[in-house]
Amino acid sequence: MPRSADVQTQRIIQDNWRRVTDQIAAACASVQRDPGQVQIVGVSKYVDAALTAQLVQAGCTNIGENRPQVLWEKFAYFQQQNLAMPRWHLIGHLQRNKVRRTLPIVDAIQAVDSLRLADELSSEAVKLGKTIPFLIDINLTQDDSKTGMRREELLEHLDRWTNLPNLQWTGLMAMSSLNASPESALEEFHQVREFRDSLQQMLGDRAELKELSMGMSGDYVQAIQAGSTCVRIGSSLWEGILT
Ligand SMILES: *Cc1c(COP(=O)(O)O)cnc(C)c1O
Repeated sequence: MPRSADVQTQRIIQDNWRRVTDQIAAACASVQRDPGQVQIVGVSKYVDAALTAQLVQAGCTNIGENRPQVLWEKFAYFQQQNLAMPRWHLIGHLQRNKVRRTLPIVDAIQAVDSLRLADELSSEAVKLGKTIPFLIDINLTQDDSKTGMRREELLEHLDRWTNLPNLQWTGLMAMSSLNASPESALEEFHQVREFRDSLQQMLGDRAELKELSMGMSGDYVQAIQAGSTCVRIGSSLWEGILT
């Protein structure tokens, strides 16, 4: 059980945020990358809305939730408490019947995993008059425990992905395999990047796939080495909170 939010947790979260941003800056420096090109999405799925608000207060302005319903609840809390809104990223699977309530409050959908979902998102986005960036959740390994689309599945209807009104396909999201060693995580992230590069070649100016969302608390170093533009950090930010 996480602790409840108080003055002490605020200080712990501030320290964690500083440590994580320092570590990510160091990982960027070690491969001569500009830390400004690696966005940090703080993953708040382990904690309640009040602790999430303390992370935002500490300076983390991009928040990722993997469950749509929890995202709705946290959004409502921020509104009720009149708190500065972070940018919300949905990083987990979205069911089509939850699109309507989710779309108005998120800034990006990171884990689109089917054209059926993309079609639904597109038609709701048109109704809303909002254009929303999204990433495709891709699974290039043989790991069935992971979500995400297969390479062939995506290539089959490649043209359709670039023709979705009010949706903007900006890149790929991926996870390394469960229990992957640092070496194999690095290799997997390289494969994702190479796949993105080949997609970009095929698509030319029909899309700009500039985002690679990869890297979590345990493998962000390898992800940054392989070219990640967005790391999704959960557990490291909640050290000392989840006791
Ligand atoms: C939980 C989660 C993360 C964060 O993982 P940590 O190992 O806690 O940093 C990142 N991405 C997704 C999709 C998640 O579900």
